[in-house]
Amino acid sequence: MSTTEVENYPGFPEGVTGPELMERMRQQALRWGAELYEEDVVSVDFSKRPFEIKSEDRTMRANAIILATGATAKRLRIPSEEKFWSKGISACAICDGASPAFAQKELAVVGGGDSACEEAIYLTKYASKVHLLVRGEEMRASKAMRDRVLDSSDVIVHYNTSVEDAAGNAQGFLESLKLVNTKTNESIPEPLKVAGMFYGIGHTPNTKFLDSQLGTDADGFIIVSDHDKTSNSVEGVFSAGDVHDKEWRQAITAAGSGCQAAISTERYLQMNKLLKEVKMMDTKDAKEEIEAAKKKEAEAPKKKTHEPAIDADNFDIDRQKHQGQYALRKLYHESPRPLVVMYTSPTCGPCKRLKPMLSTVLDEYEKSIHYVEIDIAKDPEIAESAGIMGTPCVQVFKDKARVAVINGVKMKSEYRKILSEQLIESSAA
Ligand code: NDP
Repeated sequence: MSTTEVENYPGFPEGVTGPELMERMRQQALRWGAELYEEDVVSVDFSKRPFEIKSEDRTMRANAIILATGATAKRLRIPSEEKFWSKGISACAICDGASPAFAQKELAVVGGGDSACEEAIYLTKYASKVHLLVRGEEMRASKAMRDRVLDSSDVIVHYNTSVEDAAGNAQGFLESLKLVNTKTNESIPEPLKVAGMFYGIGHTPNTKFLDSQLGTDADGFIIVSDHDKTSNSVEGVFSAGDVHDKEWRQAITAAGSGCQAAISTERYLQMNKLLKEVKMMDTKDAKEEIEAAKKKEAEAPKKKTHEPAIDADNFDIDRQKHQGQYALRKLYHESPRPLVVMYTSPTCGPCKRLKPMLSTVLDEYEKSIHYVEIDIAKDPEIAESAGIMGTPCVQVFKDKARVAVINGVKMKSEYRKILSEQLIESSAA
C-alpha cells in the first residue's frame, strides 16, 4: 500500500501502483467469498483448537491461520529522533514527501537499498535536491535502481556516510544533520542542511502480537519449514510474504508465497477433515461487479475534476463528514462539537487504510463529532499552517484549541479513547 509503481508484477506491462494492485486483489478475494475485517489483531492463542484470534472488536476461532502481517520500516534511533519525528524525520517518503514543508527544499534519504533509491527518486518530484546517505562503499540496490539514482542530476550520493544526530530551527523543525565519515569514524565538520530526512534502511517483521508462540529468528522473522516454505512450529499455522521472507520481499514473491500458503492450508484442512466449501460468487454477479468497478474507475478522474468544492452553497453543518478548507474554516469557528481533522495525501497508502477505519469509529459519534478531511496536495496552505509534515495525521480540536494529534495509523481504540474523553469533558462542562 505504501509503494508507488510496481514494475515487476506480471500482467501489468505498464506497471501498476501499489494501492491499485491491492484494490484489485481485494476485489478478487471478495469474489471468492472472503469476508474482510479491517481491524488490528491484538493477540492469538495457538494452544487452543480451533485457534483463537482476538481483535479489539471480536474474538474469532479458526481451524487454520495464514499470517501475512508483513514488516515495518526500521528507524535509525539517533538521539533527537523523537524530537523531530513528523517534524522533518519520516520513514515513508511516499506518504510524507508531498508535505508543503518539503517543497523545493533539500532533503536526505538514509540507506543504499532499493527502498532508499526508490524514495530518493520519488522525492526529486518535490525537493530542490536529494542527498542519499549510504553508510558503505557502495549501494546494495539492484543495478536498475542504482542507475536511476546515479543518472539523476537531482540526487547526490554520499558514500561512507552515516547520521549521528539532527538539529532543528526555532520552530522545532528539522534543519540540519550531523554526519559521520564511516571510514575514519570522524564527524564531518559541516552539518548537512536539510528540511527532511527519510529512512530507507530495511524492515522489522510484524510478529510481536504472536507473543513467542511461533519459532522466529533473532530478528523476529517466522522460521518456515524447508519442505513447503509456509508451515512452521505450530501445525495449522502458515505464513506468507515479508513476515518470514528476509530476502526477496517483492509484491510478486509475497503473492506467490500467499498462494503456497493457501494450498498448504487447504491440504491441511482436507487431511484433518476440517474443510468447508465456500461458494465462489456467481459468475454473473462477479462479472457485474467487475464491470461496475471498471465503470467507477473510468469515471473517477472525471468525477474528481468536476467534484464541486465545498463552499457557502453546499456546506451543511448538520452533516458529520466534510472535505476541504472551506468546511474546515466554518467548522473550526462555528461547530459546537469536537472537530476531527484528517490530513491525507493522494499517494499515501496508510491514509487509504485509515480512512475506512476512522469512518467506522466516527459513525459511532454521528451527532456529536464533526469531521473534515484535508488533502495536503489540494490545500497546501492549510497543511502548512497546521504544521503537517506527514500523512496521515489526525488532529482533534475542541473550542478552537488543538487537544490531540495522532500521526500514522493507530488502533481504533486509540481514536475512540480520545473522542470519548472530549465528549465526557464537554458534557461535564
Ligand atoms: P535492504 O535491507 O535491502 O537495504 C537496507 C539498506 O539500508 C542497506 O543499504 C543498508 O546498508 C542500509 N542500512 C541498514 N541499517 C542502516 C543504518 N543503521 N544506518 C545506515 N544505513 C543502514 O532493505 P530495502 O528495504 O531497501 O529492500 C528490502 C527488499 O525489498 C530488497 O529485496 C529489495 O530488492 C526489495 N525492494 C524492491 C523494490 C522494487 O523493486 N521496487 C523497492 C523496495 C524494496 P548496508 O548495505 O551497508 O547494509
